[in-house]
Amino acid sequence: METISFFDGRKIPLERHKVRIVQKLNLLPVEERLACIKEASSNLYLLHNKDVFLDMLTDSGVNAMSDRQQAAMMQADDAYAGSESFYRLEKTVQEIFGMEHFLPAHQGRGCEKVIADLLVQQGDIVPMNYPFTTVKAHIKRCGGEVVPLLYPAGLECQSDNPFKGNLDTDALEKLLEQKGDKVPFVRVEAGTNLIGGQPFSFANFRETAAICRKHEVPLILDASLFQDNLYFLKIRDEECKDLTLREITRAVADLCDIIYFSARKLGFARGGGICLRESELVNPLKELIVLNEGFLTYGGMSVREIEAIAVGLEETMDLSITSQGPEFIAYMVAELEKRSVPVVTPAGGLGCHLDASRFVPHIPQLQYPAAALAAALYIAGGIRGMEHGTFSESRDADGNEILADMELLRLAMPRRVFTMSQIDYAIDRVTWLYENRDLIGGLCFKREPNILRSFIGELAPLSDWQEKLAEKFSRDLPNSL
Ligand SMILES: *Cc1c(COP(=O)(O)O)cnc(C)c1O
Repeated sequence: METISFFDGRKIPLERHKVRIVQKLNLLPVEERLACIKEASSNLYLLHNKDVFLDMLTDSGVNAMSDRQQAAMMQADDAYAGSESFYRLEKTVQEIFGMEHFLPAHQGRGCEKVIADLLVQQGDIVPMNYPFTTVKAHIKRCGGEVVPLLYPAGLECQSDNPFKGNLDTDALEKLLEQKGDKVPFVRVEAGTNLIGGQPFSFANFRETAAICRKHEVPLILDASLFQDNLYFLKIRDEECKDLTLREITRAVADLCDIIYFSARKLGFARGGGICLRESELVNPLKELIVLNEGFLTYGGMSVREIEAIAVGLEETMDLSITSQGPEFIAYMVAELEKRSVPVVTPAGGLGCHLDASRFVPHIPQLQYPAAALAAALYIAGGIRGMEHGTFSESRDADGNEILADMELLRLAMPRRVFTMSQIDYAIDRVTWLYENRDLIGGLCFKREPNILRSFIGELAPLSDWQEKLAEKFSRDLPNSL
């Protein structure tokens, strides 16, 4: 292991990169932050980025690129068909995952769309460790239903279970025995997003694959957040600790029939793609890619991004690069725990997740506690997180609200973007907010869209709590922004 210890005993993640290009950030005064959140209808997606100090909304498409990626982008081969850039990416993907075919897509949901169009029919069910918003929407669009098969332990916010992303294999076996003819594929998500970036173990994935094989159902891996799962396999899984990241990746890939990913996350750039072995699925998928995404040698991506992904995937196989995100997240989670702030444990990938159900227990789920916490944290520090709770659910067929399993505010940690003092600032403002949590109130819809409502829905506070929170901040920190 490439660990670094401080002589004085502190445990501080050490950046293994240096900064060579910077972007100026604005930290607006609290009164202006209050005005901005009102203008954005308390939905952080509707803020202008110039008004955000720390953008912790997502890691999607906003990871810092390396000098090697930037250099590769200069040699991009612009061609509608047959671009050399694509062949370079195809070769890298083939080497890393060991699969023969690589079909490019503009981003992760493009992969999910064509896979659902080809494989999901009315009445189908798709078991998975846990659904992600976009895959669920595409499976539903095609008339199918998703069945989450996470162990109950995966949904416990406070835990020391190292593999909360594991799929309940007994439940999968039973489901395939009873309804196997309705199951077009089984999907497993690496670094399971909506439960706090939690990984699966190698043993669990192998057992899942064996059950799929026995019932002749294809196993599809959503590898969008594989980078984090890979890190956790290396450091938490006895079975993998002596293998290189490249060997672990191959061992996982060898168990899959199809792997798809969002290269907005995996590969530090922007794009996506599907890897698969020779089978009768290859040609129909190619047709859908050409129809929906673009020709087979770009799939909606710019050739410059294609070059950057190829280098980014190689860099993902380097532990000193891959460890940066999870180490920063572990630091933030540990510091917040010390201050008794409720966070999801153990620390996962992707970001630090605040548990809104314990942070603001006085706000009922139908007043969107995690969305309220998100708006409050923007007022408290100009920090933009992402709600993962009831606000992100959609109503059932009868128009009833669906209460989320968890009410989380994710503070994403884009790779190589923030410094330690910025993370310390975020810890400090979250702590101030926790001390003042009683001031945070609920939200209701002003305008509610029919699909993916958390992206463009407009909310309003149920009282003047946002003004009161801003006033308290000015009193507590009179000489600070
Ligand atoms: C982000 C994400 C997707 C969708 O990818 P996009 O590039 O945003 O379309 C799919 N699955 C998981 C697990 C993700 O995190």
